[in-house]
Amino acid sequence: MKRISHWINGAVVNGTSGRSGPVWNPATGEQQAEVDFASADEIDRAVDVARMALRSWRATSLSGRAEVMFRVRELIDANRKEIASLLTAEHGKVLADALGEVARGLENIEFACGIPHLLKGGYSEQASSGVDVYSIRQPLGVVAGITPFNFPAMVPMWMFANAIACGNTFVLKPSEKDPSPSLFLGELLKSAGLPDGVFNVVQGDRVAVNRILEHPDIAAVSFVGSTPIARYVYETGTKAGKRVQALGGAKNHMVVLPDADIDMAADAAVSGAYGSAGERCMAISVVVAVGGVADPLVQAIQQRVPNLKIGPGTEPDNEMGPLITREHRDKVASYVDRGREEGATVVVDGRDQPTPSEGFFLGVSLLDHVTADMACYRDEIFGPVLSVVRVGTYDEALALVNDNPYGNGTAIFTRDGGAARAFQFDCNVGMVGINVPIPVPVSYYSFGGWKGSLFGDTHMYGPEGINFYTRGKVVTSRWPDPATSKVDLGFPEVR
Ligand code: NAD
Repeated sequence: MKRISHWINGAVVNGTSGRSGPVWNPATGEQQAEVDFASADEIDRAVDVARMALRSWRATSLSGRAEVMFRVRELIDANRKEIASLLTAEHGKVLADALGEVARGLENIEFACGIPHLLKGGYSEQASSGVDVYSIRQPLGVVAGITPFNFPAMVPMWMFANAIACGNTFVLKPSEKDPSPSLFLGELLKSAGLPDGVFNVVQGDRVAVNRILEHPDIAAVSFVGSTPIARYVYETGTKAGKRVQALGGAKNHMVVLPDADIDMAADAAVSGAYGSAGERCMAISVVVAVGGVADPLVQAIQQRVPNLKIGPGTEPDNEMGPLITREHRDKVASYVDRGREEGATVVVDGRDQPTPSEGFFLGVSLLDHVTADMACYRDEIFGPVLSVVRVGTYDEALALVNDNPYGNGTAIFTRDGGAARAFQFDCNVGMVGINVPIPVPVSYYSFGGWKGSLFGDTHMYGPEGINFYTRGKVVTSRWPDPATSKVDLGFPEVR
């Protein structure tokens, strides 16, 4: 059985804890590897290495760091297909989707190439007589990232690109379900000339996470995953004195107004709900159909379902792959039965569609007449199940979005600019799409939700990522003539 281990100090390091877990091939249902789980001692070793690498890395010139990032950019670009096939092999997503993940991750490396410009401070000459004041941003030290299974290459890139470019050293704890892409990224970073120890990967489960959260030499933790774990990571990490940004789960609503183009809205709903088998934190999981749009919209979505090609991600024609594990597939399917029992209309049951008999496949489901008290509405299902809630007015739709405990993404489909502008102004959600179903911000903005989708103040990547991975320092400087020096116990004034 293939063994997947850690990446510490620029080399693969086999685990010594004696603990490990299976890595499945979701398209066949077979175990393809065993991944080592780090003990607390192994985390300590990785952190020591990162701490030792910090001194010279943070002293590396901005141009020197940018030069490395440019080479990282070239290497990831040249290895897009290799990274995508690792994603498909362990996560199961189709190759085209995997290539999209790499491309969106690469944007963050490109952003970080501009680090000399991004770290420019402010300067005020003559803030007082003969006194100048300037601000600088400095790295935090050793920082850690803990990432989810659904974007095993992109989410690490959201974090380490800016963290490293800012002069920090990094310890990544990827999802134990698809651990290989992080190791390959480690190899590429080394080939790009990143000094050993600046980027490390420790594989593992909650034992590794708990040690990261309490380790005194880790200054900050970035987390992406489900809401209960995000809350735990935030509370535990901040209690230990760390800076923490913890992005959680989601329940993303797509509001369709009566004037929307039905075909366009149906295409967007199908793409947003079922792409990547619904395992995206920005996936559409609820369509809010306003007024008379519901019947034609549900019909248009239903009509598109038989055309979806579901199968192994390695076959180029397939549009949707399997779910991540057997248990998750079965849990997702159980929401269809529960929805029916609670009074929803099951328009399409994913278990009725032809899918490969091996592997963790599930067809797509469409539930209509869903109400806010049903489990399929309340829970983040994280699979290809789309609920339709029918409301009479725009105000009811807005109230539904705003009353939901999650606030990651939302979208409105309309031809009315005024209605879209009002929605953008009034909705309590971090990322909004106007006729865009999955509004993931480009890398020079920042990504993050509101409410139960984010614990902490700072969104991820982009300008907020730079702020998260640095702290400000303000220098007040004076070069006076010693002859003018005197004792003055008064409070310094500027005028
Ligand atoms: P998860 O919360 O189960 O795992 C995330 C990370 O936490 C993994 O590295 C895992 O090893 C670790 N972990 C799991 N259980 C733990 C525990 N009890 N104690 C300590 N650490 C633990 O999430 P997942 O299933 O890998 O990913 C899917 C979830 O991530 C969904 O809820 C999805 O919405 C969310 N997500 C959110 C965003 C976002 O930007 N808001 C992006 C991607 C995924």
